[in-house]
Amino acid sequence: MRPAQLSSVASARRAFAVSVGKAVRDGSRRLGRGDGSAAPGAVAMAIDPGTLAGLAAEIPNRAVLVTGSNGKGTTCRMLAAVMRAAGLHPILNREGSNQLSGLATTLVASSGLSGHLPADDRAIGLFEVDEGSFPGIARQIARPRALVFTNVFRDQLDRYMEPAYLTSMLERAMQGLPADATLVLNADDPRVAHLAPGLDNPRLYFGFQDTGLARDGADPTSDFPRCPRCGGELSYRCVFYAHLGHWACHSCGLARPEPQVRLAKIDLLGSASSRVQAATPSAEVVLEIPLPGLYNAYNAAAALAAAAACRLPERAFPAMERVTPSSLRMERVEVAGHSVYLTLAKNANGYTEVLRAVLSDGQPRRIMLGLNDCEGKQPDTSWIWDVDFDSLCGLIPSPVLTGNRAHELAVRLKYAGWLGTTKATTLTAEPDPVRAFQLALARTPAGEPLWLVSTSIVLQQVRRWLRQQGLVREVWQDQDRRAGARP
Ligand SMILES: [Zn+2]
Repeated sequence: MRPAQLSSVASARRAFAVSVGKAVRDGSRRLGRGDGSAAPGAVAMAIDPGTLAGLAAEIPNRAVLVTGSNGKGTTCRMLAAVMRAAGLHPILNREGSNQLSGLATTLVASSGLSGHLPADDRAIGLFEVDEGSFPGIARQIARPRALVFTNVFRDQLDRYMEPAYLTSMLERAMQGLPADATLVLNADDPRVAHLAPGLDNPRLYFGFQDTGLARDGADPTSDFPRCPRCGGELSYRCVFYAHLGHWACHSCGLARPEPQVRLAKIDLLGSASSRVQAATPSAEVVLEIPLPGLYNAYNAAAALAAAAACRLPERAFPAMERVTPSSLRMERVEVAGHSVYLTLAKNANGYTEVLRAVLSDGQPRRIMLGLNDCEGKQPDTSWIWDVDFDSLCGLIPSPVLTGNRAHELAVRLKYAGWLGTTKATTLTAEPDPVRAFQLALARTPAGEPLWLVSTSIVLQQVRRWLRQQGLVREVWQDQDRRAGARP
């Protein structure tokens, strides 16, 4: 299928833009300057601003966009596995390359020198979209098949401002959606469930039905959102974590919608996996997901709901059981007889839920904790004070703290009681990530695993060191290998 034909001049310009973009990508890889995940798209768009929109319009099965504060990348990986098992060929953007130029790079890389995507009637777009970039991307990818909204947490206040600002920005951007694009929404998140109420688009909700893992009372990490319709106070029948749960507003009567895709039973199987029993409109399925924690159960629910929205066959759902963690998302590396898990945590909710997942069975574990700012780009690390370290006191023996804000992290842990008299713990702050990693590794008893939970720069520095030791490959090499995978 080819949409509106370009004039010969426009067609030549598109081919030129794609060719230059591909050359930039190849060049940056050959020179060892990373994967060239943004520059090729940016260059192509500078030559032909219609590149992204034009190439996206060529995808025969349209595209699914996945956005929200946390869980976008993992949801995409799970959904990609289901799509492949259903016989589709998803075109995926590289994890983290979720802004406009990253998406353009993905499509440029997938295109031929003619400036077109290869003819493939099984191709479907599957794009992780940075929530702050959603308006710009929604203008380019004009006919999405489905939009998945995972959740909205306070995240990078210096970029996205308050959640209410973010949701209103998303709603404005959704006004131009085609009427048949399905909205796949987290029913348990009041900020997401009631997005853009004026739109008549089909809505498919996902959520937890199993209240067995609900908390006793409110979660200290909640920022207590108000009713999205009237601004009244929300009450909860149960809370899973943060502000996610079975909610209702007593002022106006708005309540959590009944989800069509429900997790009826969730079993957290230690620090590595979970089993979920799910019901979709067409099937009931039990899946063992090789990822831990309630947050990954939400990612599985989101992926199942998106699969249902795309009418993928239920026989393809078990492909989610074979999903592997992406780079820096509980990515496992074997180092000197230890399994080391590299785990990105970049906001208060993510940091809390990762630690809760690793420590879910109440057993102490070796974890190195990191915190860094982004040298002027994202200077704000005040969110570390909203992480629930208090309830995990005593579960991480003698942690090593690292990153250029390691000492701020130490102060935070002191106030969380980690230096208290009953659960005496020693804290070691070593700002240099590689030295800290070596120290943490030396302190970890033989054969025991070590987790690194941190913001990104620390993890990138440790990963670079691991690559120099020949223990991991370049992220883009791994992703290219997986992108080429077929079931
Ligand atoms: Zn209300």
